[in-house]
Formats: sequence, structure tokens, C-alpha cells
Amino acid sequence: MLLGSIEAGGTKFVCAVGNDDYRILDRYVFPTTTPKETLQKAIDYFKKYPELKALSIASFGPIEIRRYHKKYGFITNTPKEGWKDTDFLGWFKENFNIPIYWTTDVNGSAYGEYVMATLFNQKINSLAYYTIGTGVGAGFISNGHFLGELGHPEAGHVRLKRHPDDLDFPGICPFHGDCLEGLVAGPTFEARTGKKGKDVPLTDHVWDIMAFYVAQAAIQATLMFRPAKIVFGGGVVSEPFLVKVRAEFAKLLNDYVEVGNLNDYIVMPMVKENGSATVGNFALALKELNK
Ligand code: ZN
Repeated sequence: MLLGSIEAGGTKFVCAVGNDDYRILDRYVFPTTTPKETLQKAIDYFKKYPELKALSIASFGPIEIRRYHKKYGFITNTPKEGWKDTDFLGWFKENFNIPIYWTTDVNGSAYGEYVMATLFNQKINSLAYYTIGTGVGAGFISNGHFLGELGHPEAGHVRLKRHPDDLDFPGICPFHGDCLEGLVAGPTFEARTGKKGKDVPLTDHVWDIMAFYVAQAAIQATLMFRPAKIVFGGGVVSEPFLVKVRAEFAKLLNDYVEVGNLNDYIVMPMVKENGSATVGNFALALKELNK
């Protein structure tokens, strides 16, 4: 059975087709330009597969997820040039008469990690997923469902206690300055040090500051919703960085609640090379088809 996946990012689109064991059969990656040009490219790609049974779209946002809302399926208040108020899902519904699931990019990744954990017999019913890349976003799954009713969670924009050595940095979020995204998104490296993150060695103190903030995000997820595990993906995250995050997390939590072994609790994605959203989309497309 053929299923389709669109991971719609602010810089690139990843379209893929696969089957119901979540294996990718073909993949097509192209840059995100104007809505018209980009969405048409994606439509043309899936038109090559008339046997497609269902599709799932995991998009950058913010997006409208309330099914009863007149703007359901829209990208709404995005700062991305030209994409504000784009009827993303509508374009696809006009072109494909198949079930289409609609969610955020980070929910897609969260679901992919949830499905993989289940496949690998990790007995979990909940999960938090944070992506730390160009921006910061988070998705939360509880008993197989995404959290968020009026909208998807925006945990990338929470406020944090500032690191004492970072008080002069104003942050880069266009809406809030020094929210989580404003303090730890990839471009903060250039804003703080003039160098790209990949060129800043892990011994640099800026990584300790980053870990202090990311650990606070993990603390918030833990205290507010007690997930079985917290996955950190995105270009900024590496295993050596998570070692620092775990150490900060342990200090901040101070054994207040039990979360098990930190090496199993705060983890990198199981699906490699940022593939979590594609796996998640295949599973969500299948779920929508079987509804
Ligand atoms: Zn913000």
C-alpha cells in the first residue's frame, strides 16, 4: 500500500512515498520558494503515483489544526515571506481525492519517534519531541494523541531563567527576543560569537549556556506532563551536547521526581538523518486512511 509524506520546512520540502511498514521507496527534496511554485512541485511529484492511498503533511507553522475552523489546513501567522495565510491543505484536497492528515513538522517528527519506539518494543505511551535548528519547536504525544486543542503547543517560545554569563544577549526571536528559540536556535551562535554553530567547539562556554537553557525546556516538559522520554532533534543537537544537557537537567531537577536513567530519558532521535517526520507521516497517513 502506497503512502505519501510531505515534510514542509521553511528552507526545504521533503516529499516521499513509502509503504505501510514505513520504508521509503522514493524521496524528493527541493528548496522552499514561493507557495505557488513549491506546492505545485509537491503536487506534480505525487501525481506520478496514482496508486497513492493516503497522504500526511507535516508543515512549518504556525498552522491551523482545528478541523471545524474555516482556516483549517492554512499556514497562518508565519514570519516567512509570502507564506502567511496559505491554504496549504486546500491545494492538496483540490488535487487528490484521498485521506490527507495535517499537522506540524515537529508533531510529524514526534509521531515518527513514538512509532519507532513502539516498533522497538519500548513500552511508552507518551513522548516529548523538541527540534533545535533554525527555529525551535516541540510536539507532545499522550496515549497516541497530540496535545493541543485550540492550536498546537508553542513550547519553542517559553520563557526561561537567564544564564548569569549570558545576560547581555538580547535573543533573536522576532516576537519575544529571549524566549527559548531566541536563546538556543542555530542562528544564535552567529549572533553571540560571529561563528556558525558547527564551527564553535564543544569546549566553548557558549555550549554550557545552551545546555543550561535546553535543560530548562526538558525540566518544563517533565514537570508539566511527565512524558516517558524527551527526544531532542535538529541541527544544533548532538550526543556530546546532550551529555551537557543531562548534567544540567540533573542539577535543576534535584531528584524531585523519578525519570529513570537519564541516558534513556533525554535522547537523540531513533530515526537517523532527520527522518523522523517521514516515518511519522507514513504512520499518520495510515491512521487517517483507517479512520
Ligand atoms: Zn519567541
